[in-house]
Amino acid sequence: MDWKLPREGSCRCGQVRIRISAPPLVTMACHCTGCQKMSSSAFSLSAAIPAEGFEVISGEPVVGGLHGATKHMFCPHCMSWMFTRPEGMDWFVNLRTTMLDGAADFAPFIETWTAEKLPFAQTGAPHSYETLPPMDAYDGLMKEYAEWAGRA
Ligand SMILES: [Zn+2]
Ligand SMILES: [Zn+2]
Repeated sequence: MDWKLPREGSCRCGQVRIRISAPPLVTMACHCTGCQKMSSSAFSLSAAIPAEGFEVISGEPVVGGLHGATKHMFCPHCMSWMFTRPEGMDWFVNLRTTMLDGAADFAPFIETWTAEKLPFAQTGAPHSYETLPPMDAYDGLMKEYAEWAGRA
């Protein structure tokens, strides 16, 4: 598919704008109770974007969530949860796909933490994990995602 890169996005109020210039490595829905609270919804949606293909082009996102080693970044004005910089994995940014223009192109490929899933929540993701995929599964998942998203 045509990823329409670079592609921009913003928080709810528009003060923070972001741009991606690389396609996602993989897309996800997370059912964990932490994501339920931070997204104020049944699950969170994200896309792993290579760090060099992600930039904040206006505004100054601030740390929110648990303020731990993994940095959850929010708009300081409207408080939208925009992206996460995971601890020890600085080669990608986990971007909340609903911030992007044309978020419909970023359907989730993996769903995680189904052990904590609300019974009515449905994501349509072709791969489900009770917690997280095993580390050695990611290479294969990323290859498969590239094909799956290409066909979509
Ligand atoms: Zn905002
Ligand atoms: Zn989660």
